[in-house]
Amino acid sequence: MTDLSALAAHETSIQRASSSSWSAVRALRRWFDSNAPAHEEDAGVRLDWGRAAPFIGMHAGCLGILLTGVSPTAAWTAAALYVLRMFAITAFYHRYFAHRTFRTSRAVQFVFALVGASGAQRGPLWWAAHHRNHHRHADTALDPHSPGLRGFFWSHMGWFLTPRAFHTDWPRISDFAGYPELRWLDRYDVVSPVALAVALYSAGTLLARLAPDLHTDGAQMLVWGFFVSTTLLFHATVTINSLAHRFGKRRFATRDDSRNNAILAVLTFGEGWHNNHHFFPGSARQGFRWWELDLTWLGLRMLALCGLIHDLKPVPAWVLAKGRG
Ligand SMILES: [Zn+2]
Ligand SMILES: [Zn+2]
Repeated sequence: MTDLSALAAHETSIQRASSSSWSAVRALRRWFDSNAPAHEEDAGVRLDWGRAAPFIGMHAGCLGILLTGVSPTAAWTAAALYVLRMFAITAFYHRYFAHRTFRTSRAVQFVFALVGASGAQRGPLWWAAHHRNHHRHADTALDPHSPGLRGFFWSHMGWFLTPRAFHTDWPRISDFAGYPELRWLDRYDVVSPVALAVALYSAGTLLARLAPDLHTDGAQMLVWGFFVSTTLLFHATVTINSLAHRFGKRRFATRDDSRNNAILAVLTFGEGWHNNHHFFPGSARQGFRWWELDLTWLGLRMLALCGLIHDLKPVPAWVLAKGRG
């Protein structure tokens, strides 16, 4: 009898170990393929540590600066990549894919989707679908990231790391889901950031050999250009979900808790005029006054002058008139 119960206990522990290793395999697969079969608790709101490991790794990678030091080349590369990718996120992930505030060609939409995806904020369709749900349900129980309901950590990044947030809400983004190249980018959202990391390491290695006076190398370019720049880009972007629904002025009495915040507008190239944006999301411009700095709007106008995009939707006169005073 004793032998039998020991055998049963042994089998149970093998089953448990096998089930948890299968969970690990599933989490690992989903790092590389966001369409891979999900865990059974897929609708949960707990933090999914297995899936979140690359996100944590990205933060840990910033500690690499202690080993690599810094050079002007690495610091400028980090800054340039912040600027380029912030523009791709705000102009294309947000103002184009989520709100359709201008028109462009299939090639341009893909190029900027690819650049935006290198910011490791998942694919453009995933991003835009979640953001459309945010506008639809802002600061209600159905909002994916309301600070008023679930606090700062949740709204800033907690929600992003829960199993239920990993899905793309396809019905919400059906207007773009017909493009196979965008669906591919959404499914393999890891490809663009990894390609950028490899390119930075390779460029740094090459510079170390060809231009030793720059005092950089592969590891330093990887740490600054990818880990530091991408981590800052992530946290700046998500302040719009956390801080811009808490701190700032409310020009418009919207049904949500959105605010206009000048500091956040500088960090995010115009997204900080979030109360303006919640009142009228259909405009490509978010700074409604001449003094409301909106670098994304300026960038979009430059792209329009070059003929790469067109039909930028302006802020209507009735909105400007309503916002006075
Ligand atoms: Zn909002
Ligand atoms: Zn929006």
